[in-house]
Amino acid sequence: MKVIIVGGVAGGASCAARLRRLDEQAEILMVERGPYVSYANCGLPYHVGGVIEQESSLLVASEQTFRDMFAIDVRTNCEAISISPKDKTVDLRNVLTGEVISESYDKLVLSPGAASVHPPLPGIDLPGIFHVRTVPDVRTIREWIEGGSDYLAGMYRYSGIQMVKPVRRAVVVGGGFIGLETAENLVHLGFEVTLIQKPDHVLSPLDPEIACLVQEHIKRHGVKVAANDGVVGFKQLDGDVVEVQTNSGKTYPADIVILAIGVRPDTTLAKTADLTIGERGGIRVDEHMRTSEPDIFAVGDAIEVEDFVTGQSSLIALAGPANRQGRIAADVIAGRDSRYRGTQGTSIIGLFEGAAAWTGVNEKTLNKLGDEDYEKIFLFPNSHAGYYPGAKMLGLKVIFRKSDGLVLGAQALGQDGPAVDKRISALAMAIQMGATIYDLEEAELCYAPQFGSAKDPVNFAGMVAANIVRGDMPVTHWDRIEDGFLLDVREPMELSVESVPGAVNIPLGQLRDRLEELPRDQEILVICRSAQRAYAATRTLIQNGFEARTISGGTLARAMYSLGELKY
Ligand SMILES: Cc1cc2nc3c(=O)[nH]c(=O)nc-3n(C[C@H](O)[C@H](O)[C@H](O)COP(=O)(O)OP(=O)(O)OC[C@H]3O[C@@H](n4cnc5c(N)ncnc54)[C@H](O)[C@@H]3O)c2cc1C
Repeated sequence: MKVIIVGGVAGGASCAARLRRLDEQAEILMVERGPYVSYANCGLPYHVGGVIEQESSLLVASEQTFRDMFAIDVRTNCEAISISPKDKTVDLRNVLTGEVISESYDKLVLSPGAASVHPPLPGIDLPGIFHVRTVPDVRTIREWIEGGSDYLAGMYRYSGIQMVKPVRRAVVVGGGFIGLETAENLVHLGFEVTLIQKPDHVLSPLDPEIACLVQEHIKRHGVKVAANDGVVGFKQLDGDVVEVQTNSGKTYPADIVILAIGVRPDTTLAKTADLTIGERGGIRVDEHMRTSEPDIFAVGDAIEVEDFVTGQSSLIALAGPANRQGRIAADVIAGRDSRYRGTQGTSIIGLFEGAAAWTGVNEKTLNKLGDEDYEKIFLFPNSHAGYYPGAKMLGLKVIFRKSDGLVLGAQALGQDGPAVDKRISALAMAIQMGATIYDLEEAELCYAPQFGSAKDPVNFAGMVAANIVRGDMPVTHWDRIEDGFLLDVREPMELSVESVPGAVNIPLGQLRDRLEELPRDQEILVICRSAQRAYAATRTLIQNGFEARTISGGTLARAMYSLGELKY
């Protein structure tokens, strides 16, 4: 059996290596348009900033490794330019010489990835404007940074003449994870960084109130954010300075511009074989990664996948799914019945010592789908036991089905990245296993005081959510409140720092003695800092015949919402 794999990075390289492990006899040819196979594109932004110093560190496995260890014929600088499913051949062009040859296949796997969006805006190809997609892209960026016009190449390092680097300006266009990671790295290099983005908040997989907090975090670390503004063009100014022009009429001079406005599935090759393209623009595959041509498989950023939670078609450009899909394609080619379960979009981004992570569906998507059978909770637990030094607060939003408690999605952020990772990874697994909030209550997770709490944030989320579904704690949210009697059960000292307009203050400890001050003809909405005391107060009120609800997440959630559009 002869198998040709197109694309030699995440999906392609995983497929090739797995196939060899399953089939010693297969003839495997892996072609890659670029100069390298199996490189770590996830590390590229960190090579821009020098965190990963050596380019060679990004090259995970070389052509030679694939030849020696896996007996795979690897051809770099080799582009697959067309496929004939009828003849079962692929035309391959040597990128360096232009020579075209034809190779036959029994099975073909496409893992061509995604292409950076590069709209036809005036001036978009000016020098100084870059994408962060490949190793050569980042090499060029690093050379540009070293050799910028008002910054004599490397002089400050050795001449003793130019001791101070002039402040340089960078504009990053796009607030997705590649844009944000690159922005952070440019800040570390001493750039004055402006992030321009069309949506009103960064990281579109997050709900606005969480994303706004991430946005505030990067602003605090020096990134200027120009939101709700689209780039309309670029103009060359004196020297190597590029002026970035936006919809609002504002202009931003920049010594370097990074374009990170998204990616789209690379379907150029698939179209030569007339493969079915789905409604989102990716190659359509079944659960075995088979395209509309039974002997052609496709994996990675180029395909459409089923969203594990909503069942909708979606495009998810992530390394984990690409690797797993490559493995599944190899399994199926080798005769095994492996199936892809769908993608949850589980992701994490580290930013200025903090992290944000998410998995499953967000509230925005549920609203767009008209799905009302969900509830959400906000929690602000410690990353580990509060009494052990170094505990930091986590912000956690969990979304679940009102009707049966199924966990649908979660988003978290905090200054303790591994703690954020741990909770979202646990919740991602829970979602994939079809867990409910009642399972989260019972989950047995690692605990010692430096790592967690006896009641882990994941358990805590399950308990809070189950309290709601069981009717023990009716809940509402800052973005749902229309009327009601606001009761703040915090201590007066806390109110002197931040008060909620219109709320009556009765500290929790006095509540039982002051019940007659509260209305019986109106719903009481109870507030504290995080909702823990509000829950206790709500229980007291309900058991004394009042109608009461806890405002989820208390004033901490209010602070998040107020960064966005909230009127309260
Ligand atoms: C800067 C950056 C940071 C990232 N960070 C993360 C992260 O932190 N976490 C995460 O989960 N994901 C991250 N990703 C996304 C992740 O890298 C991709 O989802 C993953 O690499 C997709 O794998 P793939 O095999 O589909 O495509 P790729 O890994 O992009 O590989 C496709 C390869 O196919 C080659 N190719 C295309 N067409 C042809 C052709 N016709 N002939 C021959 N070769 C061809 C291309 O040159 C390319 O090398 C990041 C991506 C980038 C660019």
